[in-house]
Amino acid sequence: MPPPTLRFLGGVREIGGNKILIEDGPDRVLFDFGPSFSPRAEEFYVDYLQPRSTSPAKDLLEFDLIPRIPGLYSRDALGDADLRYVAPEVHAIFVSHAHADHAGHLDLVDPEIPVHVGEGTRTLLDAIATSTRKKYGDHPWRTFRDRAPVRVGGIEVVPYPVDHSIPFAYGFLVRTSEGTVAYTGDFRQHGPRAADTHAFFEAAAKEGVDALVIEGTRAGPDPRRNLTEDGVRQGVDRLLAGERHLALACTYPRDIDRLATLHAAAREAGRSLVVSARTAHLLTEVAPKFPPGTIPVPGRSDDLRVYARKKRVSYVWERPFLESALTAEEVRTNGRDYLLALDFAHFAELIDLRPPREAPFIHSMSEPFSEDDVDDHVLHNWLDHFGVRFHQMHASGHASGEELLALVRATGARTVFPIHTEHPDAFSSAGPSVRSPELNTPYPLARGSR
Ligand SMILES: [Zn+2]
Repeated sequence: MPPPTLRFLGGVREIGGNKILIEDGPDRVLFDFGPSFSPRAEEFYVDYLQPRSTSPAKDLLEFDLIPRIPGLYSRDALGDADLRYVAPEVHAIFVSHAHADHAGHLDLVDPEIPVHVGEGTRTLLDAIATSTRKKYGDHPWRTFRDRAPVRVGGIEVVPYPVDHSIPFAYGFLVRTSEGTVAYTGDFRQHGPRAADTHAFFEAAAKEGVDALVIEGTRAGPDPRRNLTEDGVRQGVDRLLAGERHLALACTYPRDIDRLATLHAAAREAGRSLVVSARTAHLLTEVAPKFPPGTIPVPGRSDDLRVYARKKRVSYVWERPFLESALTAEEVRTNGRDYLLALDFAHFAELIDLRPPREAPFIHSMSEPFSEDDVDDHVLHNWLDHFGVRFHQMHASGHASGEELLALVRATGARTVFPIHTEHPDAFSSAGPSVRSPELNTPYPLARGSR
């Protein structure tokens, strides 16, 4: 029988879009399936110009924005694409975490193919699907538990929790007939679950993995400022101490750790954290997965309020939060009492909120990747218009370049494949075993002397 192979169908020299296919005899398992964040995707689809709902896979295949794999896509998604529908030839998909670039193409997948996710990720995906236009399709969903092996034919997958900027993120040890692959998913080791990341890499080292597939978002030149999660807390504490105005913050909508940090800092400063109805819905849904008191929960946590945006219609899932929600006028009048988390898409609320000049705005997200970032330009136009003070305070969801090299060396894998990075070459100093993978090329796995 030919040896098992690893194939990278996305995430090659780009951030996002991981699609890793492991084939072992008759068994084929895919790890992650999301769109790439690379500019190439935006060469064809941007803003309101998007694939048609009648044939999304066909419209993405046209520009090679998804891999040409038979037996993966649903009949509906393919429409009359030249890649003809055939019954499933991929036997399972494992999703490392709920970020769009890892899970966002599940809606294209044949509904017969089982999709394996952590229990918490299942909850997150449901909450996102309920409260946004994003859909993940119908699948036989299988939820795995921390470190509990899952079998797919002759392949055994062991999910290990890791620390990342969305909860319920996993790395995997994948045992094949010819050795073990470790796939990191996305991870960091400077957040509240750093011990999980360490335990995953220790398990990989102990296992003696033959191939390490590691993300490298921050490998290579990275001029962006980065704090630890504790560092963000200290920064926000300093900023709010003695502040007399309304304070504003902008963060990633599913970064539960950051919401917990902002909530704790707001309380410390005698303020309430004010979130959108969508965030309130998400927090409510994931709350049972967290130990009591560790994340803010609407209706249960003091000092957590919901902001009522001006809207003509409200959705069913919003309504429980809107009865006691704060209006722009209430927030404006008692600005000193609040830290308002305001999504960029909702900036028009500033027109009614009328933040006082010199009010602080905490940008608790990644700095833009490029200098001509349109959203960043627009964000600053708004802040300048109101005379609001900009503060950058963010803890990345990813390990730094130096940390990545140290982890690669400590793991001692026979071969290292850097993915989810624009700088795979930055790993070369980690050892001679680093291979920058090529798209859609099968790499045979072979158990060998280490
Ligand atoms: Zn991620």
